[in-house]
Amino acid sequence: MNKRSITGLISLILFFMTINTGNAAGAVKISYVITFPEAQAHYADVEMNIEGLAQNNLDLKMPVWTPGSYLVREYAKNVESFTASSGNQPLSTTKIAKNCWRIKTAGVTVVKVRYSVYCFEISVRTSFVDAAHGFLSPAGIFMYPDKMLNEPSTVNIVPYKEWSKVSTSLNEVNGDTFTRHAPNYDILYDSPIEIGNQDVFGFDAAGVKYEVAMCGGGNYDKERLKKDMARIVEQETAIFGENPNNYYVFIVHNYARGGGGLEHLSSTVLGASRDNYANDQGYHGFLSLVAHEHFHLWNVKRLRPIALGPFDYDNENYTTDLWIAEGFTAYYQNLILRYAGLSTPQDYLNAVAGTINVVENQPGAKVQPLAEASFDAWIKSYRPNENSINTGISYYDKGALAAMLLDLEIINDTKSRYSLNDVMKYMYDTYYKLKKRGYTDIEFKQGLEKFAGKSLDDFYENYIYGLTPLDYGKYLGYAGYKLTNELAATNEPTLGVNIINSNGKKIVTAVLRGSAGWIDGINVNDELTAIDGMPITDISGMLNGKKTGDKIQVSIIRDGLPLTLPVTLLKNNHVKYMIEELTAPTAEQLGARKKWLKL
Ligand SMILES: [Zn+2]
Repeated sequence: MNKRSITGLISLILFFMTINTGNAAGAVKISYVITFPEAQAHYADVEMNIEGLAQNNLDLKMPVWTPGSYLVREYAKNVESFTASSGNQPLSTTKIAKNCWRIKTAGVTVVKVRYSVYCFEISVRTSFVDAAHGFLSPAGIFMYPDKMLNEPSTVNIVPYKEWSKVSTSLNEVNGDTFTRHAPNYDILYDSPIEIGNQDVFGFDAAGVKYEVAMCGGGNYDKERLKKDMARIVEQETAIFGENPNNYYVFIVHNYARGGGGLEHLSSTVLGASRDNYANDQGYHGFLSLVAHEHFHLWNVKRLRPIALGPFDYDNENYTTDLWIAEGFTAYYQNLILRYAGLSTPQDYLNAVAGTINVVENQPGAKVQPLAEASFDAWIKSYRPNENSINTGISYYDKGALAAMLLDLEIINDTKSRYSLNDVMKYMYDTYYKLKKRGYTDIEFKQGLEKFAGKSLDDFYENYIYGLTPLDYGKYLGYAGYKLTNELAATNEPTLGVNIINSNGKKIVTAVLRGSAGWIDGINVNDELTAIDGMPITDISGMLNGKKTGDKIQVSIIRDGLPLTLPVTLLKNNHVKYMIEELTAPTAEQLGARKKWLKL
């Protein structure tokens, strides 16, 4: 990458850019006032005040994406009614790019800008405002003056009607909850803000004050959550040896059906289903999400791939390391629950087996290497289509499995002296704390090799850059476990298509690569109507008694026209693995198991 050689040059260029704009840090004062005069219609109104300017033009920009969510979302599409003035004088403005407004300042020192933002997309990375509450995803709300990303700003929030609370990790100014301070734009864009009447409670863990802001109600048990979330925090902190925050906020959006999360420096936003807390599976899923997003405060927010910070807010930020940033986090989200005693070893192994099944049943695992899945996140995993199952693999799922293999490799190589935890701490200490920069691909590999005590060239060539199937059995064997495919002995035939039932119609949603449906030409969006002339009720039932190699006639409706396709049935190659204990594990295997699962 030749990173070192270009660093000096970049510093020099940045120095001259600062001189040229005439805005040394501290000379400019930026503040925002956010109001919600039409919250019921989903608008946030922004007033931005900039003082201390000395330039002829001022370019204001809105990021096109938000860190942690690797898709260009074009936040500027929600902006309207942009105006600028200085005192009583209107200033002329013109758009010079999709996300950039140029104001002709002609030497004035003070500028006031006003614009409205439409906020009606429910997700953890988009803003949403209605009469009940306001959630501000800052990259889509706050414009920044070009080349002034290092400037601090203050945010004053004027709540709608009876909204009474603000939940954000931005510090209060003068003890006023409605006025917050951002030391720079990276921190502002990394600090979502929830305003409304959320149910707020707190707990202390690892020397840090935690706030939980529950929005939208739900059947959660506060005392249980406080206890269990604290256990997760303590276990994660123990891996890295320190918790870098003083205050951390969980903003939880509860919906009829919700999920997903987005990590930030000192907070996170989680989606949840409001009625799911009372059942074991739902509660466990929520804790797993908590463990995932909270783990990110180290892995990716601080210990990060070199491409992920400082951010380019105008363009895609490419990295081949999301299998580490996301995959390792996905690995730890379940392992941490095991460490914390919130799941049994068998619960954990079942979750691992489930992930193995997802990866191994996806034809795309044989097409897209992990590093490539990461690089192309912007155009593939964040923009899936009907063929994604055949062309790609999740860097979460396969990355988590690669992390597990590396963990077991290190435990085995060192006779249980070290594990992946030691690598994470070493990398955090070395790159975040000491070198104060991100790691390169090779540096992360070197960190792993340092603890494995051997070259991982083959591992990387096969599993990260290549398409060699992961050898789960070998690595699980190190800890005295074996992998068994429950479907190994079956010889059932299948069409190899996924279908949904839509108003009684069987509609094809995916055709698996290499399957009978793929080879004989069944298409996505075909309506399956009959097999061998018999109307379709239940496809798998209708294939009972058929054998691999049998020829059947599949009647379909495609684009309104009937068609019958001859199809030769092929064997169902789906796998369903389970992980079981070896009957007579050695002392070494038992030692590795103890180290791995903290038994
Ligand atoms: Zn994540």
